[in-house]
Amino acid sequence: MNDDNPWPFRAACNTTSPETDHWYAPTKIPGGKIEGGKAKRARLKLALAACETCPVRRECGDAGRDEEHGIWGGIDKGAEKREPTRPTRRTPEQNSAVQQKANAARTARATAAFDQFVETITTLHLQGATLADILEHTGYDDRQVFYNRLHRRGRLDLYSMLTGAATT
Ligand code: SF4
Repeated sequence: MNDDNPWPFRAACNTTSPETDHWYAPTKIPGGKIEGGKAKRARLKLALAACETCPVRRECGDAGRDEEHGIWGGIDKGAEKREPTRPTRRTPEQNSAVQQKANAARTARATAAFDQFVETITTLHLQGATLADILEHTGYDDRQVFYNRLHRRGRLDLYSMLTGAATT
């Protein structure tokens, strides 16, 4: 083969033999049927395998850089369009990042809710409400649960304020 020839002449796919021409779909296969998906996949596999050793693979890849279809430089440009994209599995690191984000959002929501709760009970207290009034207003049937919520948040000072008793 003469290396002075343009690169397509030296390409592995520069063949007219039906046995070695895997790059182009036959319009019909014997029997008159259009090439089916299975036959097409098998043909493309043979083509890509032959591209691996093609002497002008780089030139072909450069020439087909902006192409969206066909095989160029050993890459099947139309593969992504033909086959539905499978959902990407997350790596453990990505899972961890997603979990951290979810946790941060949950913490922010809980903090905002507690701030609102504190504002409500403080306002009611300043308006002269008793602890029983506040429990009723905020939906706490159980005084211990109310206490526990303030305790978990380190705000027993509020409980003291409402009961007038020291909690330390
Ligand atoms: S790399 Fe390009 S030129 Fe070479 S065989 Fe594959 S499609 Fe043909």
